[in-house]
Amino acid sequence: MRIANDAGRLVLVRDGGGLDVEKASDGLFGPDPQSVYERWGEFRAWAGTAEGEVAPIAPETLQAPAPRPRQVFAIGLNYRAHAEESQLDEPEFPTTFTKFPTSFTGAFATVHLPSDTVDWEVELVAVIGARAHEVAAADAWDHVAGLTVGQDLSDRTVQLRPPVPQFSLGKSFPGFSPTGPELVTPDELPDRDDLEISCAIDGELMQQSRTSHMIFPIPVLIEKISAICPLLPGDVIFTGTPSGVGAVREPKRFLRPGEVLESRIGGIGAMRNRMAPGAGR
Ligand code: ZN
Repeated sequence: MRIANDAGRLVLVRDGGGLDVEKASDGLFGPDPQSVYERWGEFRAWAGTAEGEVAPIAPETLQAPAPRPRQVFAIGLNYRAHAEESQLDEPEFPTTFTKFPTSFTGAFATVHLPSDTVDWEVELVAVIGARAHEVAAADAWDHVAGLTVGQDLSDRTVQLRPPVPQFSLGKSFPGFSPTGPELVTPDELPDRDDLEISCAIDGELMQQSRTSHMIFPIPVLIEKISAICPLLPGDVIFTGTPSGVGAVREPKRFLRPGEVLESRIGGIGAMRNRMAPGAGR
């Protein structure tokens, strides 16, 4: 099953179009995409039998599949090659921070750059579909509603300002957390633990890896995070980025107004976010 947030309304994605969930369910489910995760099992069962009119979706109207999570977890240094390029030790426990929800935006939204040190980080994003507290890795996938594509855009100046790094603030300017275009249930994917992940600027490939290269795969992240914080339906986890970010290049490279950042995960889809000057905010 694939769902999307079309201008604030939950739709089932069928043949590239959207089936409006509130209309097709006669109000059994409301239009708000965020609220559906509370009734995820019931929703999945209904969606298998849903019928109705499929309307075209305009990419620019798509918003985050989970737009108002109560908690957002983001993981740093979760790919060996990225830890190496950052000249940091491989972590023994997931390096965890948050991206504040006011930074969320859609898969084709324009992002206004607040500075000239904004970097890209394509990431696989998981959305929680059932409360998870002290869950073992072996049971963790049962608590995942679906997967989508994300960007963990990062102002490296704010993130790394001394004396101690400020990951959460440096990664939370408005527009710094695009997700989408669709949320895909794991059963739709040939191998939910091994997906091709890449991003490109104006067609030039910047990052390319596979999610099987994560140091802490999604089930382990859920085990380790849920040992501390209960995960709630609709919560969002950014699972970390592979190597190829701009700040560690020689010379350094950052996003510029006018550039289009394309973020892609095999079997899920692609986002295209255009960068614009900060003055437009
Ligand atoms: Zn990241």
